[in-house]
Amino acid sequence: IWFTSDMKQCEVINFQEKFSEIKALYKVWLKRQITPLGRVAVLKSLILSKIVYLWLLLPNPPDKLVDALQKTMYKFVWNRKQDRISRKIAIKSIAKGGLGIPKLRDYINALKLIWVRKLKTSDHKWKNIIKVTYPKVTLLEQLGSSLPIEELHLNKFWNDVFQAYKQFGRKIKVESSDELAAEPIFCNDKIQVGNRSICYKNWIDNKVFCIKNILKENGAFMTFNQFKEKYEINTDCITYIGCVQAIKSYILKTGLTIDNNMSNHMIKTLKVIYSGQKGARLYYEVLIQDANKPKCCEKWETKLNTDINWNTSFKKIQKIREIKLKWFQIRLVQRILATNVVLAHMGVEKDVTCSFCGKERDAIEHIFWRCEHVKRFWEQLQTVVNNACANGLFVNLNESIILFGHDCSFKSDDTFDLIILLAKFFIYKCKVKKNIPQFNLFRNYLKTAFEAYKYIAIINMSYDKFTKEWQFYQTLMES
Ligand SMILES: [Zn+2]
Repeated sequence: IWFTSDMKQCEVINFQEKFSEIKALYKVWLKRQITPLGRVAVLKSLILSKIVYLWLLLPNPPDKLVDALQKTMYKFVWNRKQDRISRKIAIKSIAKGGLGIPKLRDYINALKLIWVRKLKTSDHKWKNIIKVTYPKVTLLEQLGSSLPIEELHLNKFWNDVFQAYKQFGRKIKVESSDELAAEPIFCNDKIQVGNRSICYKNWIDNKVFCIKNILKENGAFMTFNQFKEKYEINTDCITYIGCVQAIKSYILKTGLTIDNNMSNHMIKTLKVIYSGQKGARLYYEVLIQDANKPKCCEKWETKLNTDINWNTSFKKIQKIREIKLKWFQIRLVQRILATNVVLAHMGVEKDVTCSFCGKERDAIEHIFWRCEHVKRFWEQLQTVVNNACANGLFVNLNESIILFGHDCSFKSDDTFDLIILLAKFFIYKCKVKKNIPQFNLFRNYLKTAFEAYKYIAIINMSYDKFTKEWQFYQTLMES
């Protein structure tokens, strides 16, 4: 790390050097034929690891640099072509319907939050320096978001840490009345008078920090006189009532109630931060969460005219071990798998009808379920599973099981999920080659895949587990 007398320069110098190293890495990896998912893995393991310690130890780099690096990441994942999944969605984890492309600003903030945790858990000597230089920082546990960051004149590094803490606080929702009572009143975006958060310094000086401080034992708010009596704060009735009203409308929004004031809880934001064990993963997950849903969800629901449990659909994708199959299922669910309609649009294909039957328009749901040839394929698979596989399942395949790997009425096991996935992949390969999918050929295909998994299981010394997982499905491979 380069150190400069001016802290602002420090990060620029260090960062720029890494940036050119990263660009060189991109070049090397773009020469390889890997899926976008593989490139996301490269981003996380080889590229981010180069700069994580800089972000952990130095003030945040200028936004311009972060944005520039972020842009190169999207370009890298999509191999310098157009994004196929919107950026808002692609940064979500796979279990939430995204690809897990790192969102750098949140990533940097998450790393900075480690220091808030360290303020409590670490017993190193640097804490003494903080205590002397910024004595008010030690009030964090009482003040939470009300900590007067601007007044403390923190250096850039610690300022970044507490700005990250503020960002984090906005994403944390209270879930119980105890947590609600422990919420800080001041500098809290959720408690507003006249559309602005409030901060009454003389209240803070008199130890009024959080909601529970102005509650009576039965959980009701103190009257103005009771408040005056307890705290001897020089304030007027209107200010007090305005504050109480603001808190009440916040409480209303949470849907929670406070029925007694026995809470001994810590401020929720800090509780979550202290609960992080190692690293910053938990913080990052909180920071990136938002209400955006992948576009494909609505499209599928209109197309199939049914509700689909997307949580399960995406979690099933997350469980897929093989990256090739994972990427295939992501493309299918996100509706970016190349059908003849898409290929015709790109000028690669002339015909927009199904490669199997040549009658219907080629659509994902047609290729994998609705086409007559594919239906026959699935019927054969279903018959063999029901007649010859003692897996204890009664399989009645339907469109949802085939497309998304689940259905509310059907409980499957992991091996069966994998077989369905392999069958879909097989069908897709047939489609590309314009061959009608034959069940007998699939049996050979499955056998080859099985042998490969067996080999991997032996190397990983998990052969016993493997045999158990596949015990009911051997007959499927015997044609
Ligand atoms: Zn067809």
